[in-house]
Amino acid sequence: MSKIPVGILGATGMVGQNYIALLAGHPWFEVKYLAASPRSAGKTYGEAAAGRWHLRRGYEAALIDGITVQDANDVGAAAAAEKRGELAFVFSALEMDKDAILGLEESYAAAGIPVVSNASANRWTPDVPMLIPEVNAAHTDLIPLQQKARGWTKGFIVVKPNCSIQSYMMPVWALLQAGYEVKRLIATTMQAVSGAGFPGVPSLDVIDNVVPFIGGEEEKSEKEPLKILGAVEGGLIRNAAGPLISAHCNRVPVSDGHTATVSLEFGAKKPSVEQVKEVWRNFRALPQELGLPFAPTQPIIVREEANRPQPGKDRDADKSMAVSVGRVRACPVFDIRFVGLSHNTIRGAAGGGILNAELLKAKGFLG
Ligand code: NAP
Repeated sequence: MSKIPVGILGATGMVGQNYIALLAGHPWFEVKYLAASPRSAGKTYGEAAAGRWHLRRGYEAALIDGITVQDANDVGAAAAAEKRGELAFVFSALEMDKDAILGLEESYAAAGIPVVSNASANRWTPDVPMLIPEVNAAHTDLIPLQQKARGWTKGFIVVKPNCSIQSYMMPVWALLQAGYEVKRLIATTMQAVSGAGFPGVPSLDVIDNVVPFIGGEEEKSEKEPLKILGAVEGGLIRNAAGPLISAHCNRVPVSDGHTATVSLEFGAKKPSVEQVKEVWRNFRALPQELGLPFAPTQPIIVREEANRPQPGKDRDADKSMAVSVGRVRACPVFDIRFVGLSHNTIRGAAGGGILNAELLKAKGFLG
């Protein structure tokens, strides 16, 4: 099978670099089109990335270095590549003004190029699905309605949610599916510095320190789960009524891996600690059933050690795509508390975007 040619908007950035590293050898997708700011446009990727590669792992330079970086604002160049059969869809990892990203992503979709986005610009667009494939794969039902309402034929936009909620959304969804209503949730996150991109948080602010504020993060953490848990209705997503969420988001001196300590209050039906662990151990969803290449085999890994999960030891579990949970115990204020951990730049960013694209391909939305 010939591979699907894909593009990366924001290819020189932190998330863009993760896409390049993770897509090397992907069985379905092949990186053929790279775009970034006008500062990088016109250079080969090798020149544009020289001295700016932030990851500890490398990429297949022979496949990527010779590609000329395009200006991501030049939708015409992408449309021409699409017409030549050299571009089927793009991953959007742009960092620029929100309105500019919103407009650009719409222009790509209007030009017939599907956009799988990591940016927050379109997360609150009511007809744009915000996907965690294990949780709300059914929200892809919105795509034909989005296309019809906007007059787009092939193009569409999907987004992935904020990285900070990934450590507990899947565990919460697994419990909801098992019939345990979650009424209230308090989450305190300890978020890695890579979540702020590069150069990100100044080293003197974060070394030997905890910064108890990440702009906009708590608001996103409290709202985004309600869209993800919502229902497709009349061409839009109707947000779920609950759970009521209170989030405290902190930046900590960890390179990768967002940790969250979470307390849950259930409705009338309350699971025991053992029942919670059983639900999580047995949880499987559509990405596992479909055998998507980036899907973790065991999406929620329950750690029994008293001192796990830890970012340094558990963030890379199952292709860095699994959520690790541990310290599941009774909560004297709510009902149950636990620690959740996920890799923020893989599950929470580029890996999550790739899994979204795999889901879309498996459902027939990508050619
Ligand atoms: P980043 O490292 O700052 O990279 C930004 C990218 O956007 C670069 O390729 C840059 O190109 C390009 N760019 C900047 N200004 C541009 C312009 N005016 N026109 C066209 N391209 C422009 O950012 P990042 O951390 O990778 O984040 C990318 C996106 O993913 C953001 O929307 C962010 O909110 C989201 N996100 C990040 C994370 C994470 O863990 N870091 C997690 C989830 C979501 P040049 O190199 O040429 O300047």
